[in-house]
Amino acid sequence: CGVFGVYAPAEAVAKLAYFGLYALQHRGQESAGIATFDQGRLHYYKHMGLVSQVFREEILRELPGQWAVGHNRYSTTGSSRVINAQPVVVPSRLGEIALAHNGNLVNTLELRQQLPPERYPLYSTTDSEIMAQLLAQAVDGGADWVTGAIQMAQQCQGAFSLVIGTPQGILGMRDSYGVRPLVLGTLGEQGLVLASETCALDIIGADYLREVEPGEWVWLTPNGFSCGQWQTAQRKLCVFEMIYFARPDSVMEGKSLYAYRRRLGEILAQESPVCADLVIAVPDSGVPAAIGFAQKSGISYAEGLIKNRYVGRTFIQPTQAMRETGIRMKLNPLRDVLQSQRVVVVDDSIVRGTTSRKLVQALREAGVREVHMRISSPPVTHPCFYGIDTDNQEQLIAARQSVSEITQHLEVDSLAYLSWAGMFAATGSAPQQFCSACFTGDYPVPMPDALKRSKLM
Ligand code: 5GP
Ligand code: SF4
Ligand code: MG
Repeated sequence: CGVFGVYAPAEAVAKLAYFGLYALQHRGQESAGIATFDQGRLHYYKHMGLVSQVFREEILRELPGQWAVGHNRYSTTGSSRVINAQPVVVPSRLGEIALAHNGNLVNTLELRQQLPPERYPLYSTTDSEIMAQLLAQAVDGGADWVTGAIQMAQQCQGAFSLVIGTPQGILGMRDSYGVRPLVLGTLGEQGLVLASETCALDIIGADYLREVEPGEWVWLTPNGFSCGQWQTAQRKLCVFEMIYFARPDSVMEGKSLYAYRRRLGEILAQESPVCADLVIAVPDSGVPAAIGFAQKSGISYAEGLIKNRYVGRTFIQPTQAMRETGIRMKLNPLRDVLQSQRVVVVDDSIVRGTTSRKLVQALREAGVREVHMRISSPPVTHPCFYGIDTDNQEQLIAARQSVSEITQHLEVDSLAYLSWAGMFAATGSAPQQFCSACFTGDYPVPMPDALKRSKLM
């Protein structure tokens, strides 16, 4: 999901939130929502669909205020229904809460039992509504906003980057592992911004200040800014954010993701060279690594697949049947570029193998002589429990098959993945600073057995 918050009393905050969410659209395309606070009074609107489909000028005009929070949803827990759209709005002793969450909790069953349904009803199937109600419960029990948020966070296990609107100001929070990103920016003289990625700061002309640290809370109000650690950080940023999920024009861990992904391609070319005529990317996510691969190998880079930019990411769609029809809608091979060529095809990841298999078939039909697939991340062998939908383990092709079996299944002439060490060499940081559980099964957040059983083979 994408989360956004802005404090800017002199500006049209709903419009700023709209553009922030617009830049974060890649993080979730299922629903979008904005909540504003005008002299402490809440206004909000949320609906299914893309940001540009959900909001119109008239709707934004009805969202006045001095601060706003917004959310783009990508479903990992809870079904695809409007009741699950965010920000989640719940009442409390100190006024209404509008909570926007990116991540995934692993102890929701336990947490549900702590909320008496008469007082703190749960209408949706999301973990985010649980967090909003836990905050309401803490505040109702006498806590102020910051103390209440800390109490809430201490009960939650899993990944959360939160932007929470209240009548007194905006709270930002990150779990102690910092699995999902969250950054702070400044806007003009007195404006402050919270966003999942720096690309959302760029679009509204805000300046990047710093990350919200793992285990940190921040509190933006008309009386000023305060922050603190609610728990000691054990930095474990999701490495998949770096490889694939975040936009390449965002900066993460002090690095341009575009430069990082190019570097992945360079290392991949060194690790798994091949004799070929052309390097092509699976657009858009494979492009930086393909350019890196081409440059390092000296094989020329070409566009061999044209993407329809108006089709959402295929993995957003919920059913396998839709996923399969999704590929042809999305990518079309350029016959005149590809005919009779030996081609290196670079992509960022293979998850289920569905896209890749269809793609190889389409390339063959376009007359490609040899297909050498190169993947700029290691085999995905384990599901994600922290907010990226890498599915049940049995649906992950690399959990069931060896690289040589996958090579046969995809009907490629060769297949190579980037090594785990190569993936980290490109970050310039120690592997311990990241979560890479979907490549190793080494999950940083302890998980209840029932959840493990439901997702692992
Ligand atoms: P597959 O071949 O596994 O069906 O799809 C791989 C391609 O889809 C890659 O281009 C990758 O960018 C994208 N993709 C699809 N689903 C997911 C997912 O759940 N997580 C990640 N990281 N990438 C995905
Ligand atoms: Fe990211 Fe994989 Fe860890 Fe999930 S399991 S947070 S996708 S690195
Ligand atoms: Mg892709």
